[in-house]
Amino acid sequence: MLNVQNLTFSYKKTPVLKDISFKVKAGENLSIIGESGSGKSTLLNLIYGEFDLNEGQIFWKDTEILGPKYNLVVGYDFMKYVHQEFDLMPYITVAENISKHLSRFQPEESKNRTNELLKVVELEAFASVKVKTLSGGQKQRVALARALAKQPEIILLDEPFSHIDNFKKQSLRRNVFKYLKDKNVTCIVATHDKEDVLGFADTMIVLENKHILEQGQPEQLYKNPKTPLIASFFSEFNIINEQIVYAHQLKVVENSDIEATVIYSYFKGNHYLIEADLNGKKLFFEHEKSIEKDLKVYLSTSE
Ligand code: ADP
Ligand code: MG
Repeated sequence: MLNVQNLTFSYKKTPVLKDISFKVKAGENLSIIGESGSGKSTLLNLIYGEFDLNEGQIFWKDTEILGPKYNLVVGYDFMKYVHQEFDLMPYITVAENISKHLSRFQPEESKNRTNELLKVVELEAFASVKVKTLSGGQKQRVALARALAKQPEIILLDEPFSHIDNFKKQSLRRNVFKYLKDKNVTCIVATHDKEDVLGFADTMIVLENKHILEQGQPEQLYKNPKTPLIASFFSEFNIINEQIVYAHQLKVVENSDIEATVIYSYFKGNHYLIEADLNGKKLFFEHEKSIEKDLKVYLSTSE
């Protein structure tokens, strides 16, 4: 469906992305993760056809995605892209922004779709408010709804919930990703937030140093992180005997050969994250209670 083959791209002389290949099936949700500057937005731009590739090809079904050199008007009808900086029309209302590109000849249908989307992004109460008066997070939600309005076959989302506050984030993610699944819209999400990935992505790609470091199901990558970078995306972790051990995999026991000294207990809601010293190096584990500073504890790994 989406087929990215041996893509290499550079803005100037040195490549930003090198030999990138992956496929996404119709209706799937793919997450692209990586540190800031790793090329996530660039990759979305390329899939959208904003730049010409140095090498490689991108196909959506049988259509080759071409850059500006071969395609005068950037973008395709079957694809929508919600950029990190969403540009809306500030002087018209939320509802008008969403319905702007819907057909004027089917006013009833256009109205129904707009209402449906206002519900998805939880902005029903703001339908007739001018966009310029909205907060950053509210604008981001309008941008999402507008991109969904014409029901694309594939949607590219660049850090789609980054401006939205924590009170709304969780339910909004569920709404948006469920909507996309229900409508069988293929979805590619660039993010550095594991909450955008876990529970939603069918597959994920990790970008590092111009290349794809790993690709697979989130559960695979989480359970078997090949590198510290991947582990750090998911959770606090340690390296013990050259193995990656998540903080929650370490338990306090009566006796063991890992003896650490407690430095600090961070309240995390349903547990405490304990920072400790192990032979001069920091060690993190989870515990149901806080532990007094300087106390010595024995730890053991468990699944
Ligand atoms: P991410 O989205 O993962 O943070 P980007 O794709 O924005 O990463 O950037 C990848 C690299 O490309 C960075 O080194 C960035 O400085 C560079 N870059 C991004 N956009 C441009 C541009 N328009 N011109 C030149 N270099 C760019
Ligand atoms: Mg980016």
